[in-house]
Parts: sequence; C-alpha cells; structure tokens
Amino acid sequence: MSSILGQPDAQVFACPKCGEMINTSMAQCAYCNAHVDPQWATWASNAQATIASGFNHANNIMLAARALIALFLASFIPCGGFVAGFGLNLLLLAFPILVLIWFSKYQWGLQGIDKNHDDLKQARRRIMRASIIWGVMFFLRLALWVAVFVTFSLS
Ligand SMILES: [Zn+2]
Repeated sequence: MSSILGQPDAQVFACPKCGEMINTSMAQCAYCNAHVDPQWATWASNAQATIASGFNHANNIMLAARALIALFLASFIPCGGFVAGFGLNLLLLAFPILVLIWFSKYQWGLQGIDKNHDDLKQARRRIMRASIIWGVMFFLRLALWVAVFVTFSLS
C-alpha cells in the first residue's frame, strides 16, 4: 500500500518482457529486472487505462441493457407505468448511440493498441449480449405498439 500512497502519479502497465503489472515510477521491472523506457512506459500505461475504461464502459452498456428489461416490466404497472414506458423509449433510442460511441472510442479509434486484447474481447462479447437484449426489447416494444394500434383501429 505504501508504494501506492507514496507515488500518486504512477500509472500501472504490463511489463513488455514478463507481463507483470508494474508502474511508471520504476526504471526497471520489479519482477524480471528488464529496463523500462519511460516514454514507452507512459504510452503503455495510457494504453492500459484506455483498455480499462473500455472495459468499464462495456459494463455500463450491459447495465443499460438490464435497465431496458426493468423498464419494460415496469411499463406494465397500472399507475405510473407510462413513466417507465417513456424512459424505456428514450433508452431504446439512446442504446445504439452508446454502442456506436464505444466502438468508435475503443475499437476504431485505438492507436497502436491491440483490438483483440483479452479485456477488449470480453468487453465486445458483453456488448454483443447487451445488444441482443436491446434487440429483443425493441422488438417487444414495437410489437406491443402495433398490437395496440391494430386493436384500436379495429374497434
Ligand atoms: Zn518484467
């Protein structure tokens, strides 16, 4: 803990030689003693931070997909369900934008970072699953609207 508290500005990255997590304040790796180029270390720690934030944002997208399910169910509550329905519509529209932003930031916009880094792969899988949930919710919502419309126009 003392090394973390003592060097608040040090950022972590994986050693290019052994892959262990070290930080930018070290001139050489604490595990394999490999020399660390400070410029390269800064780039690597930024890359590490980018990957970590891509991973976190993918988790947020999954949370948004779960919120879609919760709002869809809540929209059936007799009183106040329309508020949930309104939120559901907004989130259904916003979801693809969130996914597009993620891909532009953490896939197409990556500079020198491997797109197939394990964490990014896992993040992509999570986003795929979230997108399937979104697709199902979008379809159900649309089907419900059509059903209501047909019922009203026939009566
Ligand atoms: Zn090392």
